[in-house]
Amino acid sequence: MSTNPKIWLSSPHMSGKEREYVQDVFDANWVAPVGPQLLEFENKLRSFAGNHHLAALSSGTAALHLALILLGVKKDDFVICQSLTFSASANPIRYQGAHPIFVDSEADTWNMCPNQLDIAIQQCLNGEVYSPSGKEIKTGGKLPKAIVPVHLYGMPANMKDIKEVADKYGIPIIEDAAEALGATLHDKYCGSFGDFGIFSFNGNKIITTSGGGALISSNEAEIKRARFLATQAREDAPHYEHKVVGYNYRLSNVSAAIGIGQVEVLEERVNQRRSNYAYYLEALGELPGVSFLEEPSGYFANRWLTTILIDPKKSGGIDREQVRLKLEDENIESRPIWKPMHKQPVFQDCGYVGESKIAETIFENGLCLPSGSNLEKTDLNRVAVVFKEIFDK
Ligand SMILES: *Cc1c(COP(=O)(O)O)cnc(C)c1O
Repeated sequence: MSTNPKIWLSSPHMSGKEREYVQDVFDANWVAPVGPQLLEFENKLRSFAGNHHLAALSSGTAALHLALILLGVKKDDFVICQSLTFSASANPIRYQGAHPIFVDSEADTWNMCPNQLDIAIQQCLNGEVYSPSGKEIKTGGKLPKAIVPVHLYGMPANMKDIKEVADKYGIPIIEDAAEALGATLHDKYCGSFGDFGIFSFNGNKIITTSGGGALISSNEAEIKRARFLATQAREDAPHYEHKVVGYNYRLSNVSAAIGIGQVEVLEERVNQRRSNYAYYLEALGELPGVSFLEEPSGYFANRWLTTILIDPKKSGGIDREQVRLKLEDENIESRPIWKPMHKQPVFQDCGYVGESKIAETIFENGLCLPSGSNLEKTDLNRVAVVFKEIFDK
């Protein structure tokens, strides 16, 4: 085991202003679920959401859950979801008693393949959806209630084609931009394409409130409704009057104060993460069998994590697990790509649509490299040196 200091995959990176902003909260005794910091954080965030309306919430997962509720997703409905993602994209579908149908990725962005999406909708209508083990999914010819594409690792999904398919059938989109804050597609921010979009400010994301999220929509009334549902659905009355089930999903005002300090440096953080990617590309791009996910024209990724593929057929047998373990020996944290949802035991009885095993291959060969915006050049160099040692043997 190396005695070198630990290099983390993605650790929180404060601007230095956060303590002061939290101090302001204490000085004014706004240690509460609402307060001026919450509103200021929301206002600052809007400029990274196409100036759409938004509500800051306790997590990205809560934001996804509220989006499904607002779209009327109920028990035994079907919702199409990208398979290659973190489980939080799909879990809220289950909270509603609805059934996810997972769709494979395209190789260009690693995100939802628009063609497979179209096929999935048709199969849903025709009752031709199956689980990975071949079990028939009884869709009853129902149209899916929503589509959840993801901008994985901060690479925008092909929203133009996905939206075209969604519009053809009149199905709303919930855009999971948890990993893509600050990324754009043809100069439009991720999170602002769908009927709803969501962000996450979990501790490992590009900016953090320690835990938190946001729901985005161009529709002001929907966001107003989201705030209402997120604060226990209290009707306008001096006593506590409730007509619908409510949730306790609002972001705390203390957390929002941290968020203000973070959103002020978001552009800088995007640049720092992008320069990590550029460093790794320069240092490792020529190694045999190693490939990087490039930006298609018009795509601007935030490079939340730098991800690579290692093809053992071209690398002389070196695979991603070998590399990951060697980095671990050197006290460097790296991680496999998200395991596709259609391969997860918890979702084994859900529908899956895909023919080319794109997501599976990315999972098998993919690795996330240390990508924090607080990494020094010496840290990146340490990663590159270990990497090259493996390939020099
Ligand atoms: C982090 C993440 C979420 C969930 O966000 P939380 O704030 O942790 O609840 C959802 N989707 C994806 C793709 C994520 O990476």
